[in-house]
Amino acid sequence: MRPASVDVDVLVVGAGPVGLLLAGELRRGGVDVLVVDRLAEPRTESRASTLSARTMELLDERGLVPSLGDPPREPAGHFGGIPLDLSAQPSRYAGQWKVPQPVLERILADAAERAGARVQRGHELVGLTQTGDTVHARLTGASGVVTVRAAYVAGCDGEDSTVRRLAGIAFTGPAATHRILRADLRGVQLPRRRFELLPGGLAISARSPDGVTRIMVAETGADADVSRPATFEEITLVWKRVTGEDVSGAEALWVNAFGDASRQAERYRERRVLLAGDAAHQQLPAGGQALNLGLQDAVNLGWKLAAVVRGDAPPGLLDSYHGERHPAGRRVLANIQAQARLLFDGNRPSGARELMAELIEQPTVRDLLASGISGLDVCYARGPHPLVGRRAPELAARQTGLPTTTTRMLRTGRGLLLDLGGAGGWLRAAWQGWGHRVEFGAAEPGQAYDGATAVLVRPDGIVAWAGTDGTGLREALRTWFGAAAAPAGAAAAPPPRIRTAPPVATRLPA
Ligand SMILES: Cc1cc2nc3c(=O)[nH]c(=O)nc-3n(C[C@H](O)[C@H](O)[C@H](O)COP(=O)(O)OP(=O)(O)OC[C@H]3O[C@@H](n4cnc5c(N)ncnc54)[C@H](O)[C@@H]3O)c2cc1C
Repeated sequence: MRPASVDVDVLVVGAGPVGLLLAGELRRGGVDVLVVDRLAEPRTESRASTLSARTMELLDERGLVPSLGDPPREPAGHFGGIPLDLSAQPSRYAGQWKVPQPVLERILADAAERAGARVQRGHELVGLTQTGDTVHARLTGASGVVTVRAAYVAGCDGEDSTVRRLAGIAFTGPAATHRILRADLRGVQLPRRRFELLPGGLAISARSPDGVTRIMVAETGADADVSRPATFEEITLVWKRVTGEDVSGAEALWVNAFGDASRQAERYRERRVLLAGDAAHQQLPAGGQALNLGLQDAVNLGWKLAAVVRGDAPPGLLDSYHGERHPAGRRVLANIQAQARLLFDGNRPSGARELMAELIEQPTVRDLLASGISGLDVCYARGPHPLVGRRAPELAARQTGLPTTTTRMLRTGRGLLLDLGGAGGWLRAAWQGWGHRVEFGAAEPGQAYDGATAVLVRPDGIVAWAGTDGTGLREALRTWFGAAAAPAGAAAAPPPRIRTAPPVATRLPA
């Protein structure tokens, strides 16, 4: 049978949290998106359950925080099992937020579909070729093979990414040295164990408000073969050996094994194919950093890829995705590897854990580690002002005379140019020509803005420019938002704002 063909701006492979958030971002940027997933239904296993302060800020900048309901906030996290206070971080979302991954995925799927993305499940990517300006993706589903022609493909298909393999992108780094068993149990009462290093290994147990207890155990000296599926019987025996507790009478809702491999894609882009989330990096799921790192890839990529598809991106914008997120990912992987060393110290004390516990008491060390775990330390560039390349802390603002906040202003999907007091006419004059890409407003200067009288913020909430007299501002506008629509001051029709493509009309055969 001749394969049918479907055309779309961006094909997102994988309806996990990263693919779904990216789909919503692309729709905000006005392009049409088709998301496919090989699973017929969304997954229900708990997996990750922690959102960091930075992820919460980003969800707020998308208007998605109310959909989370009232998730429990924990003021402390851990670094390699050593308690770490996160509550003093400079964010309204300081701490860690407990949101089960299936809940987050449902919220992101609803948001993406409401924005006009089409999510089609039961379609597996099996082939990928790039010719000229098109990527041809071969998908198999219940009704056979279908070929989708897309301008770009985003591989958000998890750590065993087919997109990554078909695009020929190497995935390198140390293999797992530990096998960790995990189970979600109902019907047990266990003492809470927060990363306890016992003579036989590492044991963790925590009960969630719905009465489910998650246990995790890594036995000292066990093999590191994570390809061998875990069974409830195995985890029961290992848990007994390490903790002395019997969980054999519990109902096992989910059992699995994972490892501490640390791999990263060598390139996040291969021409018209991009990688994000676990497809781009594999790590020990410590403290929710795996999920949060991937969500932040999606937010960095979405507005850039949308601008390229719309045809108004400045040169190099899409390459800045790899340029920014690859080092950010490498840094988080290094952080997680260091935590793994502390976690698996076990009954072979090296002194590192004791020393780290002492160091964490020092405010500077605590702040450094807490800002990393909270995702607030990302720095993509070093600019003349210390905020350039970093997240823009939230400010109270006014737009066309009405009170608002910078968080609310970012919900439009455009950049922001803010007068922080006394910038004067030069700021508004510089803005002329970029009004269709960048919102203009005034904000109360916050302490964090360190003397700047004006600031330019990208759609992903990162400071592109900050200063006191416009030096370098037009260059920053061109770098991130492309050429001005008309010379400053020229009498011209107002340029169009971001076009929103109609929702994808194409439908894959069921
Ligand atoms: C078993 C397990 C337990 C975890 N536990 C934790 C935890 O406790 N804490 C923590 O922080 N993190 C945990 N993680 C990691 C966390 O879940 C991931 O970091 C997060 O899901 C990454 O999101 P993603 O969207 O990048 O990839 P995924 O969530 O893996 O989504 C990828 C999607 O792509 C689909 N897909 C794959 N191949 C194809 C294909 N060829 N064609 C079409 N669709 C395809 C898959 O069906 C899947 O829906 C766990 C992960 C797993 C797998």
